[in-house]
Amino acid sequence: MKIVLVLEDESSIRSFVVINLRRSGYEPIEAETGEQALELLRQNPDTRVALLDVMLPDIDGFEVCRRIRAGDSRIGIIMLTAKSQEMDKVTGLMTGADDYVTKPFSPTELTARIDALYRRTGAAADAEASCELVQGPFRLNTRNRTVEKNGQRVKLTQIEYSIMKLFMDNPGKALSREDILNSVWGRDYYGELKIVDVNIRRLRIKIEDNPTIPTYITTVWGFGYKWGA
Ligand code: CA
Repeated sequence: MKIVLVLEDESSIRSFVVINLRRSGYEPIEAETGEQALELLRQNPDTRVALLDVMLPDIDGFEVCRRIRAGDSRIGIIMLTAKSQEMDKVTGLMTGADDYVTKPFSPTELTARIDALYRRTGAAADAEASCELVQGPFRLNTRNRTVEKNGQRVKLTQIEYSIMKLFMDNPGKALSREDILNSVWGRDYYGELKIVDVNIRRLRIKIEDNPTIPTYITTVWGFGYKWGA
């Protein structure tokens, strides 16, 4: 069952999304409020992707995102934002969302984003053989999709994990932002390059000794990023 949570208080938008998800082979579960969404996720632990509207009658979508992430780093999260919420997009990503879609969106675009996220959060993890990469203080386990720094588990989202894996597979190599986007988000990704920078910023906060003076993920100006540990 490919369960996708749809949190949206406007019933017309919600039905539109739900109908399109069913058509694409997903099994949508619907929530109108943040609290309802959190309860549904507790009842459906197999949910792999959550679509979260930002403006809701009770707690906002960012808070819902934070609360989901506090207990689950594996689920894929896409924020549904209005055009006027340009800055909020970044805030949403900083609180742990993997992607965002701006309203009004086409069903094709939304489904493509969900497909991409769905593939990243599940199938790859199941198929990958167990393997450990150890570099400097970091230990990455491909079977559990976990990263430890100095023996301490670093809580990463699936996207952050995929970026770490890409870096640790390519130590010392300058990777362009396009390389990172293509490899982590997939070539069919519709979004913008800056999503790479937003995720790198968040990853630095989690893994660098001092995120303002990063030493593991260094910036290659005008190009991209380089890993060294
Ligand atoms: Ca709304």
